[in-house]
Amino acid sequence: MSTETSPACSGAARHSNRMVSVHARYDVVVVGGGAAGIATAASLSRRRPELSMAIIEPCETHYYQPGWTLVGGGVFERNQTKRMMARVMPRGVNWIKAAVAEFAPDRNEVVLEGGERVRYRALVVAPGIELNWDGVHGLRDTLGKNGVTSNYMFEMAPYTFELVRSLSNGRALFTQPPLPIKCAGAPQKAMYLSCDHWLRHGALNEIEVEFHAAGPVLFGVDYYVPSLMRYVEKYDARLNFTSNLKAVDGPGKKAFFEVKSSDGTQLVERSFDMIHVCPPQRAPKIVRDSVLADKAGWVEVDPATLQHSRFVNIFGVGDACSAPNAKTAAAVRKQAPVVAENALRVLEGQAPRAVYDGYGSCPLTVERGKIVLAEFGYGGKLLPTFPFLDGRKPSRLAWFLKEKLLPTIYWELMLKGHEWLARPEMVPNKPGSHAAQQTLRAEPKAP
Ligand code: FAD
Repeated sequence: MSTETSPACSGAARHSNRMVSVHARYDVVVVGGGAAGIATAASLSRRRPELSMAIIEPCETHYYQPGWTLVGGGVFERNQTKRMMARVMPRGVNWIKAAVAEFAPDRNEVVLEGGERVRYRALVVAPGIELNWDGVHGLRDTLGKNGVTSNYMFEMAPYTFELVRSLSNGRALFTQPPLPIKCAGAPQKAMYLSCDHWLRHGALNEIEVEFHAAGPVLFGVDYYVPSLMRYVEKYDARLNFTSNLKAVDGPGKKAFFEVKSSDGTQLVERSFDMIHVCPPQRAPKIVRDSVLADKAGWVEVDPATLQHSRFVNIFGVGDACSAPNAKTAAAVRKQAPVVAENALRVLEGQAPRAVYDGYGSCPLTVERGKIVLAEFGYGGKLLPTFPFLDGRKPSRLAWFLKEKLLPTIYWELMLKGHEWLARPEMVPNKPGSHAAQQTLRAEPKAP
């Protein structure tokens, strides 16, 4: 599978299209064995161990992607961020090692790349987001050499730190494509950690640092911006907004940006000694070409229940769904129990009751050892997990959380269906409500 169709799965890690035990029909089928697919299946399995369930996932390796920022910052080894997929599959769940090619909700089926069909009573769609490396001309050919790197790829994250360590003067560029992207803070996290390294090693004065963002702001929730700006000033980084990376000439060490201003659009050339690229991102092709998609290509869900807006026995979770939350693993931690609750209710012919508040989190690694911890829900509403901790204040405690606790919370709690601080809120049941009637009408018949 190419990196376009499966962003988190490298070509090497992908299983061949050989089929392993495909059964005709399951109570629940989950598409994608990433953070969202595994967490949701684990939450379902804990609630109802007798459910028949399959996860369709082609990759042999599962990645803890939030760790890649720390790999690029020289804090983690990249192997700390991966585990064999077999190890994270919830017990009792059938793993179908294949990629889904098509959705057929009218028949309650998904079609695999090899043409096989898998039937379900309820479907959870979690194939993540697509990294469009070809969306920047020349990028794919030069990635991993000529000073061009990205923490958005497992193989590439160590190269970021290699470049940072070896750079003692010149110009370093950090880019951010149009939103939505997964972990919208990750492009600037790479910049802060790099600058911190150069500052500690006395090189920062000799390095010109530029941040180029396609959007008009540094961070989407204003509340955290002053804290981040203090670091931008400390590192003397030059911010360039509405500046969208379009092409990279690796051997020539040049980057080309489309810059929008009141005078119109211009193509601006910047030379570099190192460039950290966050690739453009979009809904996965299997979703955006399907009847499940909204206008922008995402799995069209109700933002509160995460139930599909038109197909009541289908749910979207994680980066692929249309809910307007920050696309993060932190969001998945809260979404998975909501989907598990609601999918079970649909299987019982009832309306969803669990609601998701849009929680997402972005631990901004402003320097090695300190983090500005942004936690917010729909509409930018602040949702701190520990209200005594002022998220705007760069803190060592938040760094400890990111470096030591969150990986364990991910592997040992979230992926195992332990819903620590993630119990879903339930709204009162309204029998005969529109949603309940819809659900009953759509309850799929046995094949
Ligand atoms: P993924 O985890 O990407 O999983 C998608 C899965 O679907 C993959 O296993 C893929 O192989 C599979 N798939 C794709 N296509 C198909 C198909 N056709 N058929 C079957 N399976 C398919 N989040 C945080 O909370 N905090 C952070 O600090 C943070 N930092 C990040 C830094 C970086 C550099 C990156 C890249 C991400 C970061 N994230 C962070 C974001 C977080 O990793 C994602 O939001 C999270 O992994 C989303 O989970 P997902 O299951 O939706 O997608």
